[in-house]
Amino acid sequence: CGIVGYIGENDAKGILLNGLEKLEYRGYDSAGIAVQSTNDLKLFKVKGRIATLREAVDENTEATVGIGHTRWATHGQPNETNAHPHMSQSGRYTLVHNGVIENYHELKNEYLTDVEFVSETDTEVIVQLVDQFAKETGSTMNAFRKTIDLLEGSYAIALLDQQDEETIFVAKNKSPLLVGRGEGFNVVSSDSMAMLQVTDRFVELMDEEIVLVQKDQVTIQQLDGTEVARESFEVDMNI
Ligand code: GLU
Repeated sequence: CGIVGYIGENDAKGILLNGLEKLEYRGYDSAGIAVQSTNDLKLFKVKGRIATLREAVDENTEATVGIGHTRWATHGQPNETNAHPHMSQSGRYTLVHNGVIENYHELKNEYLTDVEFVSETDTEVIVQLVDQFAKETGSTMNAFRKTIDLLEGSYAIALLDQQDEETIFVAKNKSPLLVGRGEGFNVVSSDSMAMLQVTDRFVELMDEEIVLVQKDQVTIQQLDGTEVARESFEVDMNI
């Protein structure tokens, strides 16, 4: 299983699909991507191979922001509905997740009794929480931070906000996730190998950091809002 993300000036879907192919070795049962352009979000998900996903993706889709996922099902059957990305009830947020949310049941009962869930995954609780808290706090950043603070378990997460096409919101805990740096773009990936096609410079992320990935900028914060400065490292493309 794995995660990829891209934000920049080029066609996102091709970069995401190529990246997911490079993550195939990690094993998966389904896959999907979400790409976002002004007032438009397109979601493509399939059970099965990346080659099948590639066929399902509309070639005419043009977007320079997106996230992708290969799923290794832990909660709910491997099928199209349970495949990621998952969308919040209002349609505002879209999210991919690797890992297991151990307290998803408790979170659902405490905060989301009015929400109609579409999938059987533990993951969906995350995106529904962000949506719920965004309504209360008026800010995606605060909603994302509050959500991350509540999650127990393992996760690598990438989140899109339909009202902010300039940012991919990212966090991790006990699951691998890196940010790749480019000129006029940045990427997210479980594994540097998946994004060596576009960059060889990566930034390590620490557990429970809140990361804003934008085209020309990456902002890393601790949960309490303290900004963290971290240099990128170079990956040798020849190995
Ligand atoms: N627990 C999530 C699910 O079952 C994510 C699985 C994964 O890591 O791919 O959908």
